[in-house]
Amino acid sequence: MKKKMNLTSKVLVAMALGIVVGLGINYSGLNSEGGVVNTYVVDGAFAVVGKLFVNALKMLVVPLVMFSLICGVCGIGDVRLLGRIGGKAFFLYLLTTAIAIATAIIFAATVGIGTGIEATSASTFTGKEAPPLSEVLTNIVPTNPISAMAEGEMLSVIFFSMMLGISILLVGRPAKSLLEFFEVLNEVMMKMVTIIMNLAPYAVFCLLAKAMASLGLDLLFQLIGYVITLVGALMFHLFITLMVVLKLFSRLSIATFLKKIRSVQIFAFSTSSSNATIPVTLRTVTSRLGVDNSVASFTVPFGATINMDGTAIMQGVATVFIANVYGVDLGISGYLTVILMSVLASIGTAGVPGVGLIMLSMVFSQVGLPIEGIGLILGVDRLLDMIRTAVNVSGDATVSCVVAKSEGKLDVNIYNDPDAGTAEIEEAHIDHDVELELAEVLHDDKLGGVKK
Ligand code: ASP
Repeated sequence: MKKKMNLTSKVLVAMALGIVVGLGINYSGLNSEGGVVNTYVVDGAFAVVGKLFVNALKMLVVPLVMFSLICGVCGIGDVRLLGRIGGKAFFLYLLTTAIAIATAIIFAATVGIGTGIEATSASTFTGKEAPPLSEVLTNIVPTNPISAMAEGEMLSVIFFSMMLGISILLVGRPAKSLLEFFEVLNEVMMKMVTIIMNLAPYAVFCLLAKAMASLGLDLLFQLIGYVITLVGALMFHLFITLMVVLKLFSRLSIATFLKKIRSVQIFAFSTSSSNATIPVTLRTVTSRLGVDNSVASFTVPFGATINMDGTAIMQGVATVFIANVYGVDLGISGYLTVILMSVLASIGTAGVPGVGLIMLSMVFSQVGLPIEGIGLILGVDRLLDMIRTAVNVSGDATVSCVVAKSEGKLDVNIYNDPDAGTAEIEEAHIDHDVELELAEVLHDDKLGGVKK
């Protein structure tokens, strides 16, 4: 009998097909403005299916983070331990981001990118305002939790959910049923993640076909030096720095980690959003890598919001590139400022597509580089955003494993089991018999309730 393909393989195939079909459309000229293919396929079917999927992922983020965090906090059961986990995660996130940007600057300075390019071709890029750090800090405590949830303000949602969890813990027995309620909700939300993930192959195909059909790869070749240096630094960070951190602090297998994290990277690559990838990261980190929900429920959304190693690398490479193009010598103090600013900027901005450029304008204005310079790299940024987002989420997963392992909250058996967590995904295929049985049980319960 033919072996059934697992979901990750299906998504990989879909990804490859999407890239091929998209590039085919781009290079055959079928993507011309107003043409049938462009109107009905690229901007029609592909765009709609892709957007529906990203919307579905985003729809899950706030409730999922809330419920799993409340359960996670109560699962830890000790406020001091919670502080320790938070402290470790925060420290590792800052550390990896700082290493990332330092690596990027070293790579770019060694290659000397941008030295032969004329600054005149810069288009007009006007940087959007990045929120000041003081505002980021004060906004962590929401004045209105409902509006924070509605706006998807992750740091506020994390804060409120943790407060709720801590309060449930402190109230103790009378709040037990409330905790049980949240536990069930958490399970239900996880099931929803599983259902939506089963649609991923179609969505990933559409997202990539759309991106490739509209962008093509020509842009990348125009700035080939910048692209190669950036991708080189990103790969170095992903395969060397993060893996050294994983091995050094947790002694876990690198090969297993890289294999299991692949689906998370593909989701991040296809959506260009760490935030939209939270449901997949959370699910993979807990059920495939064995991290206890009490750690992952905090480290994953926190990481998606404040930890952006890939973005920091882009900023480092872009800074050296633009400084060389404009003939500005930043000097050691300039580069140190870039490192500090990038780390700070990454804390304040959520993981959504293109946010890295907004943060870059903040860094540039601090070190006195012309903001319009960003116009030079604007064209290629959409594609590079996909790659750096995959690195961003890999950092979140690495730190989650390291923190969990150091607290004895990582199940090594699950981590080492190649099939762990895959069965649950298959379960999401709705089995008609189970469905009917469940309907009967629910129906009986309801009648029982009425009789009583
Ligand atoms: N798209 C990235 C993320 O979501 C952020 C960025 O670099 O623009 O992590």
